[in-house]
Order: sequence, then C-alpha cells, then structure tokens
Amino acid sequence: MKSITIILVAILLAIQSNAQLHAQQDTSWKKQYRETATKINDLVHTKLEVKPDFSKSYLYGKAWITLKPHFYPTDSLTLDAKGMGLKNVALVKGPKLIPLKYDYNDDHYLRIKLDRTYKANETYTVYIDYTAKPDEYQEKYGTDDFLGIKGMYFINPTGEEKNKPTQIWTQGETESNSVWFPTIDKTSQKTTQELTVTVDNKYVTLSNGKLMSQKKNTDGTRTDYWKMELPHSPYLFFLGVGNYAVIKDTWRGKEVNYYVEPEYATVAKKIFGNTPEMIEFFSKITGVPFPWAKYSQITGRDYVAGAMENTTATIHQEGAQQDARELIDGNIWEGTIAHELFHQWFGDYVTAESWSNLTLNESFADYSQALWEEYKNGKDAGAAENYQGMQGYLQSGSEEKDLVRFFYADKEDMFDPVSYQKGGRILHMLRNFVGDSAFFKSLNLYLTTNKFKAAEAHHLRLAFEEVTGRDLNWFFNQWYFSSGHPSVTIDYAYDDAAGKVNVILKQTQKGKLFTLPIAIDIYNGANKIRYNVWSKNAVDTFTFNYTKRPDLVNVDGDKVMLWNKKDNKTLDNFIHQYKYAGNYLDRLEAIQFASRNQDDPKALDLLKAALKDKYHGLRNATIYSVDIENEKVKQAVETILADLAKNDKKSTVRANAINILGQYKKAEYAPLFKAVASDSSYSIAGNALTALLEVDKDAAMKIAKQLDKKPAKGALKNSLQNVKAASGDESLEEEIIGGFNKLPVSQAKFEALGPLGKYLGALKNTEKVKASVDEIVKFRDAIPQQFRNNTDPYINETLQNIVTKKAEAFKTDAGNAALKELIDYIKGKIPPADKKGF
Ligand SMILES: [Zn+2]
Repeated sequence: MKSITIILVAILLAIQSNAQLHAQQDTSWKKQYRETATKINDLVHTKLEVKPDFSKSYLYGKAWITLKPHFYPTDSLTLDAKGMGLKNVALVKGPKLIPLKYDYNDDHYLRIKLDRTYKANETYTVYIDYTAKPDEYQEKYGTDDFLGIKGMYFINPTGEEKNKPTQIWTQGETESNSVWFPTIDKTSQKTTQELTVTVDNKYVTLSNGKLMSQKKNTDGTRTDYWKMELPHSPYLFFLGVGNYAVIKDTWRGKEVNYYVEPEYATVAKKIFGNTPEMIEFFSKITGVPFPWAKYSQITGRDYVAGAMENTTATIHQEGAQQDARELIDGNIWEGTIAHELFHQWFGDYVTAESWSNLTLNESFADYSQALWEEYKNGKDAGAAENYQGMQGYLQSGSEEKDLVRFFYADKEDMFDPVSYQKGGRILHMLRNFVGDSAFFKSLNLYLTTNKFKAAEAHHLRLAFEEVTGRDLNWFFNQWYFSSGHPSVTIDYAYDDAAGKVNVILKQTQKGKLFTLPIAIDIYNGANKIRYNVWSKNAVDTFTFNYTKRPDLVNVDGDKVMLWNKKDNKTLDNFIHQYKYAGNYLDRLEAIQFASRNQDDPKALDLLKAALKDKYHGLRNATIYSVDIENEKVKQAVETILADLAKNDKKSTVRANAINILGQYKKAEYAPLFKAVASDSSYSIAGNALTALLEVDKDAAMKIAKQLDKKPAKGALKNSLQNVKAASGDESLEEEIIGGFNKLPVSQAKFEALGPLGKYLGALKNTEKVKASVDEIVKFRDAIPQQFRNNTDPYINETLQNIVTKKAEAFKTDAGNAALKELIDYIKGKIPPADKKGF
C-alpha cells in the first residue's frame, strides 16, 4: 500500500491523530506480543460468485472454500467473516450440500463444526451463501475508522451525486476483505482464486488474474469470470466495478491494462505508459520474470489510501489521473506506479508473514521508487529519491520503533515511515555494503526460495548470508530488530608538519552505539583515494598521512549512510566537494552550506554555479536557496534567473525561476510573464500570472479572466484564485467568502484562507469584511486546543495581513471612520502574542 503522500498541514494531522490519541491512552499493547497467526487450516482454493446490489450497498455472495488441516488433524474451521448475513453453511460432498453446525454470534468469526476429523493433506470444501453489508459493518464497528475497514466501498451507488461516477472498489489490507467474502484473513495464507461477478452490462469489472469469459444475460446484466491460477493472500483479492476506459498495453505478450475514467483515456498512456518498461526492469534486477498472468491498474474515487498492490489489479487514488497540462511538469504518480508494481514481487509473490514483518513488503516497494528513478532518470534522480525518503524518516520522530516490531497498538500503525522510508534506506545501505551483484542475487534467492509463501525478516538475512558467505546477524540485529539511527559529528584535524589528518567521528545519539562500515575518500584535485573503515565506538579517530594537505576528506564517499550528521568542513572543502565528489548529496550539502554563507563571495560563486547544475532537482533547490533579500546576492543571480526562466529545458525550473524573478517586481519582466502566462505548464502559467500581478495588475486581471474560462489545476488554479482575490471585486463574494464559509473544519478550509485573506484585504465593503473576519475567528477557535500552536500563527497572520492592507487604504482615505473602526475590530481579534509589527 502507498499512504497518501500529500504534505499534510496541522489540521489533517490533528484529525488523524485524534483517533490515535485515544488508542494511545490505552498502553496495554506494550505487553502484548504480536505472534504470527497459528495455522490450523490452510486455504487452498477460493471460488466466489458475487452480485452487488447498488440500492442497498450489499453484495450477495456464494463462496466455495477449499481447505486442508495444516498439520494436526482437526474437526473444526474458523473463518473471518465480518458483519455478514448468512443463509447457508454446508459441506460440499460431490453434488450434495451437507448442512454444517456453526456459531456466528460475534459477527466476526464463523466457527464451523466439520462433519468429521480431517487429517493433514485431506482437503474439504465448505459452501457459504452470504450477504456482505460493508456500510452497516462500518457503522457498527468502525469507531476508529481506520483505512479500508469496510473492505468493499460503494461509491455514489444510487447516482445521487451529480458529476460523480458510480463505482465499487475493494480494500483488503490489512484484514478487511473478510467483510466481503469469508476467508482466513491472514497474510500467511495463500489461495488460488476464481471470481464471477454479475453487474449491469454498462459497467466494466476488474479482478485478480485472467478474464476467462464474459456472458451477457437476458436481464441486461453481464457475468464476468476471473481466474487466478497462482496462489496469493486473501488481503490481495480485489474487485472493481465502474464505467472506465480500458487502455491496452502489453509486456512480453502479457496484458498490461490501464482502467481510467473516460475523460482520461487520451492521457492514460502518459500516466501509466512506463509500466511495461518497469515490469521489464524489475524482472531483470530480481531475476524473476513478472510471475502473474496480467497486470492491470485502475483508479478509484474517494480511495482511502494512495494506492494498493492487489495481485495483478493495482488500484490508485484519483490523484493519479493527471491531465495533459499537469503531465508537462512530470508525472507525480510515477513513484507510486513503481511502488505498487514492485509489490507484485515483494508482498504478493513473497508475503510478510505478519504485520510485524511488514517491512518485507513496504521497504522494497519504497526502495523500488529509487531503483526505478536511478535506472530511468539517472544516478542523481535515484539519490534524490533516497535522500527524500531518509528525510521523511528522520523528521518523523520514529527513532524508538524497531523496523520489525512485535509490539504495537494497532496493526495499522505498522504503515509508518519506519516500515517504509527507513526500511528503504536500510536496503540502500545493504546494497552498498554487499555490492550490486550480491544484493540482487540475494533478492533473487529470497524470492525464489519463498515464492507463494510467507516470509519473515530472517528469511531475507539467510538469503543474503548464503549468497555473500558473510554472517549478517550484526546488520539485521542493528537495523531490523532494533530502533534508532546514529547521530554523528565529524571533525578534521590537519597537521601539516607531521603530514597527517585525523578524522574524528563521534556517535552522539542516546542509547546504543552503531557498527558502521564507512568509506572515506581523500581528494587532491580530482584525484581520489578511498579508505574503508569501521566506526564502532563513541569516538573513533582515523589517521591518514599526506605529503600535500588534501583538498577534501569526504566521509561516507557514496553518501549512503542513514544518519544525522554534523560535518565540520570548511567552505573550501565544500567547494571542492561540489566540483569533484560529484554525488547528488555531495552537491546538495555544498549548496546548503553555501546558502548559509551567502555574504562570502566564494559561497555566492558556488550558488551561481549550482543554479546551472546538471541535475534539475539541484537547480530547483538552488533557486529556492538564494537569498534575494540580500541585495548583493539579488544582483549577482538576476541574469542567471532570467536565463533559467526563459531557457531552461525543465518546465519546473522555468516555473521556479519565474516565481523568484517575480519577487524582483521589475516592469521589464512583464513581457516575459505575459508571454508565458498561457504556457501549457500549469506551474509556469500560474507563477507567471502571480509575478505579473506585482508589476502590471491590470494585465494580470485581463489574462486571468481569459484563463478562468477553462478548468485549471495546480499552481495556475491557486494563482487564478489569488489574482481574483486581489481584485476585491464584489461579484466574487459568493465564490470566495461563501466558498470558505461552506467548508467544514478541514484541510481544504485551511488552504482557502490564503485567497480569502487577500480578497478581504482588497474588498471595500467594510461590513462584509467584518462578517468574514468573524468566520475566520470562528474557524480558528474551532480547531482542537492541542493543535492550535501550529494553526493559530498562520490564521492570525492572515488577519494581520488584512489589517496591513486596510491600514494602507486608510492612509489615502483618512476620513473613513468605518475603515478605522474595522482596523481596530480586526486588531482586537488577534491575541497580543501574535501582534507583531504594530
Ligand atoms: Zn506499499
């Protein structure tokens, strides 16, 4: 699964952690060891015949489930079946159904008494006629409202919501598929699958495996028959129904399909079209050709996460559906597409045997994003992905959680930056430590040894040990079965008289010391000598001799370590590092250091060079690092920014350069801004329009009115809102003020504050401004107390900006008593602590 990656502001976090807060007050989980589920019976085959009822959001189902005792003989079977209505529970004996005794009092477990005792390897089939009631189940049991608890989601089932398609999609992870069919809902179970679904003929369906047949019925419905010949886990079962365009692609003769809403049919290949090349790439590096019969991807409205790797049938949230103009800046969904695809090996082919071992699925999926970037877009792009992942973990405050965790409050808590991003960076270190060919050979051994089975972290260790011949307990004990990360300080003591440098590495983290294999590169000019050392102590000193003082000593030469680092290099060192060390992170660190020393001409030179870095990600980082409040810097970088704004080959770089260039507020750039305000890239058009607003308001308004006739997304949408807001035009009152008032306390309301504040700053009608300020204050005070430390400053700043605008207006309209009164009124709503500057 891929969680939603949008950067969340305080409110959304507040709403989510409210639920977690409740869970965390109960700490009994700290003593509850989460053992892997005992296997009494094993699933063998699951055959489902289902028919959705859109009027009730029910699913009528018949299940034939074939099982066998795992090892010990048994006369009973317990299935997960959540909130179902049961009509018949029977044993299948030839053509006959023998009714079985069962107990279903708790609405969650169907406890069946079999007709006799079965021995291991004696298979039997039970038949269950049932009705799944996902909405009622959630209402009854879903107080915590964790992701996917309903299992099956009916979207706009009766078509009441205009402009919204009617869909069904399912979400099994973690243990929710047992809401729509009875099963043993554990990751360690594997079963082959057949599914027939009957729907209105106007819909298409998607499920796991191959579409074997489609049969039109006389009542306007159609029955589709899907079959999975290879076994997989119940949480990976999927059913999707809706009106989709199905765009066909292929890989080595297997079907690769993209199910999108019809209006995205023309861009589907721009969004998903790299999938066959990804399948080829992942097949090659793992040495396991994509094992399943087909691969389809579908989008789902209101989907509860980012995406989910159902075997052969991945679902993506609607955010995957970008239009052609958005895609000009790059496909923001590419990483997610890689992530879910790599799960088809790590997760679906070999499955984490329990949620404690989730990282066996998620760290690989996470790391695949960097692998794909590295392969497709180069080493810098891969390194940028790794760095982002590392920051995601380091900033999450998760240093107390083990990667493999046997104690957790809820299984959903396992889906966190430790299982994903930290796990991904641990794999990156492991790859660097054992080398590429050993790394991928070990993955191959792990996959082939454990295929169609469940695994735990030790299986991965054993594969690596077998391939490399090295004992890796130290690595796994340190990184998999333990928590935290090193925090290091690196100092350099040069002694020219003695001709040696001491590199002093201190581990300053609380708790245990880490064993770290580290590469140290010593540079003279472009010449590099590498030394491999181990840091194991609180303080380690490594001494290197020299005849000429090195230009640079570069610790962690490949920039792979998962750590927090304070590296006490000089500016000259960093300048050398930028030029000669060459890795993405070598250059980024140099840019970051230079950006803290912009008054130094040498640092400024480095930033000027970095504005033309060969990697667009670093050009973008540098654009936002230069301090144009600093007059000298502002002058020094202007021509470079203007050149980037016009000529850079990456649209995002042009857009960012325009954004900063707009802050120069120079009329001479107005023609440039006007020219690109209709650029096909939303970010260029949006930033240009915002920039133009500062130098030629009338022209900006005129262009905005034109652009507003067509739908806009991203930066252009924001920019149009801002330009409109800055107009203070009374005819927009309903759209801007009314729009804000209608929203519930939410992320969206928080985001609407920006344009609203601007609009109120420009709106002349004092009574309307006053009433709207009251609404903002009401919103501010409605946010739960514990989160207001984060939200209050922003909201009060918005109020303060309105005051500033009104004060400016009052200067030219000093007799306006109503305006004076309004200014005092708003001031009175801002608490003293946030009253800065007046
Ligand atoms: Zn995932």
